Amino acid sequence: MRLVLLGAPGSGKGTQAERLKTALAVPHISTGDLLRAAVAAGTPLGLKAKVVMDAGQLVSDDVVLGMLEERLRQSDAHAGFILDGYPRNLAQADALDGLLKRLQQPLQAVVELRVPAEVIVERCRLRYEIQGRADDEPTTVRKRLDVFAAQTAPVIDYYAKRGQLKVVNGVGDLADVSARVMAALAPNASAAVG
Ligand code: AMP
Repeated sequence: MRLVLLGAPGSGKGTQAERLKTALAVPHISTGDLLRAAVAAGTPLGLKAKVVMDAGQLVSDDVVLGMLEERLRQSDAHAGFILDGYPRNLAQADALDGLLKRLQQPLQAVVELRVPAEVIVERCRLRYEIQGRADDEPTTVRKRLDVFAAQTAPVIDYYAKRGQLKVVNGVGDLADVSARVMAALAPNASAAVG
């Protein structure tokens, strides 16, 4: 399965991808995690990315595409992937089409986890208290939501127009949301996700 999970920051993409990767037997590839790993490793790229991430802005398209290509070329991704956090703007959606064409691995599904803004703000506040992620600081969350509305929402329309988008209600128990995603991926089959 080659799946893109879309949704606002805090919509549960990472959490759901972690749950679904076992059921789908594919790796969870998060561009945010790849970037945070570069930050933690203190690479020159990571140091530059950190400033942008802490401000709630998007890291440059070229940098993220390079990281993603490297990750998708690893052998475990040959079976498929759950992509989380990419694409985040129309240029990235276009770049992803090109990359997956080169890899001969076209997308099979795009799922949007839809969650109201007030729920998002509350989830990020809790995550900030628990994990202390700098970009979950409430003012930065508002910036990230602005970036989402301006740059990522058009990506949702892009896949909707191509007839590839499934919208899933992202509010509720983790298991219920996982079951909704699985049902959206296989409308005629019900699958349990642990
Ligand atoms: P996330 O964990 O997906 O919320 O990403 C955390 C931060 O990493 C974002 O706010 C961006 O600064 C950066 N980031 C993650 N994915 C991308 C991407 N596809 N393009 C640009 N920046 C990204």
